[in-house]
Order: sequence, then structure tokens, then C-alpha cells
Amino acid sequence: NPVITDMATLTREIEKFAEDKKIEIDTLKIREEYRKDFLGNISHELKTPLFTVQGYILTLLDGAMDDKNVRKKYLQRAAKGVERLIYIVKDLDMITKLEIGDLNLKLEDFDIIELIQNVFDLLEMKAAKKEIALTFDMDYKEPIMVHADREKIQQVVSNLLVNSIKYGQYNGTTEISVENLIKNKVIVRITDNGEGIPQEHISRIFERFYRVDKSGSRKEGGSGLGLSIVKHIIEAHGEKIYVESVPDVGSEFSFTLEKTTNEPTQSSSESELL
Ligand code: ADP
Repeated sequence: NPVITDMATLTREIEKFAEDKKIEIDTLKIREEYRKDFLGNISHELKTPLFTVQGYILTLLDGAMDDKNVRKKYLQRAAKGVERLIYIVKDLDMITKLEIGDLNLKLEDFDIIELIQNVFDLLEMKAAKKEIALTFDMDYKEPIMVHADREKIQQVVSNLLVNSIKYGQYNGTTEISVENLIKNKVIVRITDNGEGIPQEHISRIFERFYRVDKSGSRKEGGSGLGLSIVKHIIEAHGEKIYVESVPDVGSEFSFTLEKTTNEPTQSSSESELL
């Protein structure tokens, strides 16, 4: 660097230096805000189930334990609270990995119809509790081979279906369809006739911890991370996710996937055998 001899140049240099540093400081501030916000949200999410579990345990110790029926009921509720905590921690673990880009996709060829059917089976009980019918909205359920990370796509389908049940109406329906799109893509649509999402919230529902109903009394407890996990997974595949929703009419979430280009002969002959 040239030696600065006049005051004006020195002032300019100092200002420039300060300007550069300010940008750095601004970035750091944003990161710090983000971190604080994240930590604040985590402790908030964990607090509710923790206090619930603590409440049941303290009431049991306080004498409720003596009544056999009450004891069972409270222990079951405490166990539910712990289960919820486990889900939240699992989601947090996933979102952290997704946000630092440590996703490590394991791409393989698989039948998306079979995967959806598996998720239907896993969620059958949950849907039955609200008398919601989970159905395919397509004429033929032939295998449709896609190229993606099977486990992660299973999580996507599961999160979207769980939401359609949680925010669905009693005796409602959730339909899923898989259609060919242009070129080598398919689109998976999950449509419900549930409570829907007000327009002003739609652009924000994929943000982590964002919820339309923020009231503590909401019955459908989730981590508020489900859709943000879904979006990260789909985008990590280089694919797209869409949502259309009308309050009191229902919602449709859809995402694209890449079809398998050369179907491996072995798996197609296997599926013929089944
Ligand atoms: P949560 O754990 O709250 O379900 P998500 O990230 O999965 O978190 O969803 C974010 C919010 O988007 C939900 O709290 C809900 O308000 C809204 N939402 C998601 N899916 C649906 C749906 N199928 N119908 C209506 N609202 C939905």
C-alpha cells in the first residue's frame, strides 16, 4: 500500500475501511438475529410439551398415582408428550442438516406408487380417527418409477399427508395423484378438503416454525417444521413444490420428481411377478 501523506486521503481510506467492516458487521448481525430467532423458537417449541409432561408427573406424585385409572390416563398423556418431544428433536436434527446443506441424497430408482401406498398404510389409523379417506385419484395404479432419495421422499409424502389429516375435516378426503409432466417429470398432488390456508399466509407456510394458527391452544401440535423440511428436500433434488389453497375449501400441495430414464430390467420383471 502507498504511504498516505495527506489528511484527505487518510480520511477517505478510513471511511472505506469502515464501510467494508460495516458490511461485515451487518452480515454478522443478520446471522446473529437468525441464530437467536432459531434458538428462541426451539426453546418455545420444547417448553410446551416439557411442561405438559412435568405437570402430569407432578400430579401423579401429588397423589393421583393412588387411583389406578387416573394413573394410567396421566402416564399415557405423559408418554404422548415425550413422543411429541422426540418428533420435535428429530425434526430439528433434520432441519439443521438441511440448512447447512449436509443432506447427502442417496438417489435410486423406485416405484412412487408403492411408496405412497406404504405411507397410506402407516397413516391409516391416524386418518381413521378423523374418518378421513386416503385415496388415489387415478385410473391405474401401475408402477411409476422415479429417480430420487427414497427415504427423503417418503418423509415428504408423509409430512404432506399428515398435514392433510391434521388440517382436514372430520369425514373428509385426501386424494393423491401422480401424473406425467413434460419431458421426464412426474407431478405428485396431494389434495384435501380441509380448513385451507388464508391467502396472506400462503407465502410463509414453508418458513420454519411458521404456523397459521399460533394460539397455544391449538389442538394439532406439530413442530412447525414439517413444510420447511418438505421444501428443503424437494429443492435439494432440484425439483419444485407448489401450493394452492382456499379457506374452508381445501388445499393442494404438489411437487415434481424426475422419472427413471432407463428402467432397470430386474425391478420391472420383479414388479411383473408381484
Ligand atoms: P405444523 O407442525 O404446524 O403442522 P408445518 O410446517 O407442517 O407445521 O405447516 C405449517 C402450517 O401450514 C401449519 O401450522 C398450518 O397452519 C398450515 N398447513 C399446512 N398444511 C396444511 C393443510 N393441508 N391444510 C391447511 N393448513 C395447512
